[in-house]
Amino acid sequence: MSSDYDTTPLSFVELGFSGPVLQAINEAGYECPTPIQQEMIPHVLAGKDVVGQAQTGTGKTAAFALPLLTRLQTGNSRTPQILVLAPTRELAIQVAESFEAYGKHIKNLRVLPIFGGQDYSIQLKQLHFGVQIVVGTPGRVMDHIRRGSLKTETIHSLVLDEADEMLKMGFLDDVKWILEQLPGRKQTALFSATMPRTIRDIAHKYLNEPVEITIKARTVSAQTVNQRCLITNGMAAKVNALARILEAEAFDGVLVFVRTKIQTVEIAEQLAALGHSVAPLNGDIQQSQRLRTVEQLKAKKIDILVATDVAARGLDVERISHVINFDIPFDPEAYIHRIGRTGRAGRSGEAILFINARERSMLRSIEQTTRQKIMMMDLPSTAAVNKRRVDGFKAKITAALQEDTSFYATLVNEYLAENEVSPEQLAAALALLVQGNRPLLLPEQKFSEAASLPPERRSSNTRKPPTRPTRPIRPSRSAAIQLPPEEGMERFRIELGSEHGIKPANIVGAIANEADINSRFIGRISIFDTYSTVDLPCGMPEDVLRLLHKSRVGSKTLKIQRIAGDGEAPTQSARVQKPFKRSGSPTGKSRKNAVQDNRSI
Ligand code: AMP
Repeated sequence: MSSDYDTTPLSFVELGFSGPVLQAINEAGYECPTPIQQEMIPHVLAGKDVVGQAQTGTGKTAAFALPLLTRLQTGNSRTPQILVLAPTRELAIQVAESFEAYGKHIKNLRVLPIFGGQDYSIQLKQLHFGVQIVVGTPGRVMDHIRRGSLKTETIHSLVLDEADEMLKMGFLDDVKWILEQLPGRKQTALFSATMPRTIRDIAHKYLNEPVEITIKARTVSAQTVNQRCLITNGMAAKVNALARILEAEAFDGVLVFVRTKIQTVEIAEQLAALGHSVAPLNGDIQQSQRLRTVEQLKAKKIDILVATDVAARGLDVERISHVINFDIPFDPEAYIHRIGRTGRAGRSGEAILFINARERSMLRSIEQTTRQKIMMMDLPSTAAVNKRRVDGFKAKITAALQEDTSFYATLVNEYLAENEVSPEQLAAALALLVQGNRPLLLPEQKFSEAASLPPERRSSNTRKPPTRPTRPIRPSRSAAIQLPPEEGMERFRIELGSEHGIKPANIVGAIANEADINSRFIGRISIFDTYSTVDLPCGMPEDVLRLLHKSRVGSKTLKIQRIAGDGEAPTQSARVQKPFKRSGSPTGKSRKNAVQDNRSI
């Protein structure tokens, strides 16, 4: 099954949600279901098993959370009904928060995230008190089922979220074990960005005639549009980036795309406060008003519209020189529709896309669909913005000189005759009067340039390395053997090696969940016969290290410990084999025994 962007989407009301869920959707400012939600929700509401090939950013969480909440029995029931398995604690918390937000008007709803690294007592207390929805990482869910603290008999819905990530992180056996413990009669939804063989096998074995949903996009090229991409994290940084781009770029009309109705208004207000002529455009605004707004854009009374996809559908205004994707769209086809609003009538257009680190896979899908590379751009510098401000000021003087200035010329001559000032001093004083209190130039760093960098490129965070690229593991055989840890990383030793059957994926899984480290910050992993090494961001707090030391892969403890700065193991474990000589080159024995895993995981 695949989506067709051109058909009119069903509204959330038409999809058949319960009142409280509808109310929450409305408050979230969602205008209409995303393509994956369109396709998936009717089947989940009907109690069917589903397999969705969808990545982060498509609205997949709501695609399962909204219908499952509608099917949930609350009342006096405090036994687990819905179990969601997620690969990382970060995602588990995020999904649990989504359930809470979408279910905030459902009485007596209790949602609990459970993940490694958190004290058991907190989780045990909550489980004992009773919850209907549990969202957890596989290892910790397994532990609670084994202890009997998570009862499985009443679970009627299971979600496997980011199944391919769970596979990559070595959770396959845990997930299978959990699946075996759950009641046979239940509804299962499996989500995965990719569909490797193993995931298909799980779907085949454990799901009951699942409906398969893939959101496919046609390949379209958008040749008249120059596409660029800016990496920026967080709302404040995005607003600053937008403000700066609008200052640095020469534009005529601009269309800014955001996800929700609420954001159209908020962003428009912020731009208006910066002196732009701007209006929001969303589905809550009456049709007649929307038409008036578009006419104002055409007539140059407004320069910027901040819109949702639905409200901007089919918008045809020649003067739109820029489309700014403030929020990344839910699928590549929506992106193509958006950027098609510029470059009209044979003109060229500019499209700028804001993404954060987690949205890179959607960026790749877009590039594949458009068969075009989107160039990375930098946040316009303070110097660039200031140059444009100075140029603009000079242009105003030139324009004023075209007017009749004879009255002021007389006045100025009079002033010069009466006062001992030079013409330059007088002109400068007049410029000051014109500019008023607003300084003409931006001070350095007014728009927090650092804030627009992804966290891994920012410095001085104890958990996050300053120069770490986003690939999780790059274990090139020679590099892993010869190179010391990269800047911002330090090397740790784990007392499990190939003899213990350990794989890089197990190490990533254990560390990501126990230490709250996003897997992309886990560096090079080298597996030797009796032990392994892993590079992690500098500054790991001692309490986290203690937790990690005790955490397990299967029945074996990691016993992780920091290796001294020159790559040598600490003295208390001098008897253990060293991966490196002091010079940094491998010993013959280590080289022979080293097993590097070259898979990118
Ligand atoms: P996800 O793919 O589940 O990570 O969702 C990506 C983002 O889209 C989240 O910030 C959601 O709040 C948002 N979102 C989900 N569904 C919709 C919708 N129908 N309209 C607008 N935003 C949505």
